[in-house]
Amino acid sequence: MAVAQKTTESQGTETIAVHSPLNGELIGHIPVTDEGEVAAAVERARAAQPAWEALGVKGRRKILLRWLDLLKADEDKLIHHIRRETGKVEAHARLEQYAIQALVLWLYHNAHKTLKRERRTPAFPIVQRVYVSYKPHGVVGFITPWNYPFLLAFIDLLPALIAGNAVILKPSEVTPFIAQYGMDKLHEAGVPKDVAQIVHGDGRTGAALVNYVDYISFTGSTEVGRKVAMRAAERLIPYTMELGGKDPSIVLRDANIDMAATGLLRGAFENAGQACVSVERVYVEAPIYEQLLERIVHYANQMKVGKGDGMEWHMGCFTNEHELQRTERHIEEAVAKGARVLVGGERRPDLGPLFFEPTVIVDVDHTMDIMKAETFGPVIPIMKVKDAEEAIKLANENAYGLSASIFTRNLKRGQELALKLNCGDVGINRTHLGIGTPSIPSGGQKLSGIGRRGGPEGLKRFVVTQSHIVDTLWGQKPDLRIADPMTVRMIELLVRLRRYIPFL
Ligand code: NAD
Repeated sequence: MAVAQKTTESQGTETIAVHSPLNGELIGHIPVTDEGEVAAAVERARAAQPAWEALGVKGRRKILLRWLDLLKADEDKLIHHIRRETGKVEAHARLEQYAIQALVLWLYHNAHKTLKRERRTPAFPIVQRVYVSYKPHGVVGFITPWNYPFLLAFIDLLPALIAGNAVILKPSEVTPFIAQYGMDKLHEAGVPKDVAQIVHGDGRTGAALVNYVDYISFTGSTEVGRKVAMRAAERLIPYTMELGGKDPSIVLRDANIDMAATGLLRGAFENAGQACVSVERVYVEAPIYEQLLERIVHYANQMKVGKGDGMEWHMGCFTNEHELQRTERHIEEAVAKGARVLVGGERRPDLGPLFFEPTVIVDVDHTMDIMKAETFGPVIPIMKVKDAEEAIKLANENAYGLSASIFTRNLKRGQELALKLNCGDVGINRTHLGIGTPSIPSGGQKLSGIGRRGGPEGLKRFVVTQSHIVDTLWGQKPDLRIADPMTVRMIELLVRLRRYIPFL
């Protein structure tokens, strides 16, 4: 069952039909925004942006807080929208909302400090003062995926907005209504309609957006991200790419076995494994391998899969048939090469069209797709390794580098080993916390992307720096020489003093 289907209405406007993955029910149609309309939206945004910038961070942050209050007042509706479009369980839908709440509050308390004009050390003290100012880019575009359709639609957009940019969002055509809901609430909270706009459609609308905005923030697959980055490079506009992953998890011999087993299962099966930062492969030190497997099988068999309401359900369904088929292909190929399925491995049509069992698979190796390519499904492949060094080597032996995790009781050693992993963030004793912790940067390297979201680093990507060098002309006379003898003496004195006085 394809979730998004294109239809053409009688009057000629192209629309996309959106169906719920839970039962195939039609949710509605969205009109496709064509390139001309995208260009016009960017023009309107450009005209509206200066007044938004003039409000200042403190004016803008109040509006974002009001947005949060409006969403919280109607929390159940928000969760319902997310679940209906994605098929995820209530707990996983609530995670999206919690992460956005944390982000708004972090921005509320930190954006003004991060974006404040800074005074720096001048080349010549007394006669000069130097500053660095941060100015918005202008109009920032966002292209976002379907797997966390609320969180990922707003996780980058809100920092750009608070930094004074006008924003245009192109959400996934698979889950457009939840993004529309969040955008409508932004307008209700007081963001002018031209300052925050939404355009709908598939890749064509996304590609059109890249043609007009001043900065593009892309979250999605590596394949599409590369195309977007190439167009951005052609236009010489800045961008960030948050792309796919094949996140490794390493379990050391001193780990708390039960905490590792449950942590790994949560990390692998959140959102039915359809998370860029889900645990996609596990390396376990040999002395605890059998014991850990026993615990993983024990807990995996207790997972509650279904579409029931409440926080007790552990896993919902796939959002698209496409991902389900890729997961089946990866399992089949691994089994054909000698892997063994210990738990799951089958569809659950009794629960709905896109339900699949949480799956534990062992005897895997790096010749198999399940250990190399992004699976994006509820499968946890587990491999025995000799020691931590072998685990690190295998973890880095992948084209992706998004996030990773290490389970150990030795927190210091865990962090030392983390530095050897080629990825953007590492969880010690817990997986993928980065995306829900707004004070820290997170993002990928290698095929997983370029740039960071989160923290001051993620906020500052949405501004241009401008330096001001102010010469007071104190004690100076008109002179055509680049430096008079007095200035030359001053330079020599400063060179000597600066060895000992760092702030001079
Ligand atoms: P996708 O790349 O197919 O689509 C993402 C967005 O790009 C959609 O809005 C789509 O309409 C748009 N698009 C498609 N073709 C385009 C084009 N030529 N030009 C411009 N836009 C275009 O990804 P998806 O299937 O929606 O999401 C799943 C992928 O996203 C996975 O690979 C996952 O790992 C990745 N992802 C990454 C992160 C992260 O933060 N690193 C987060 C979530 C998902």
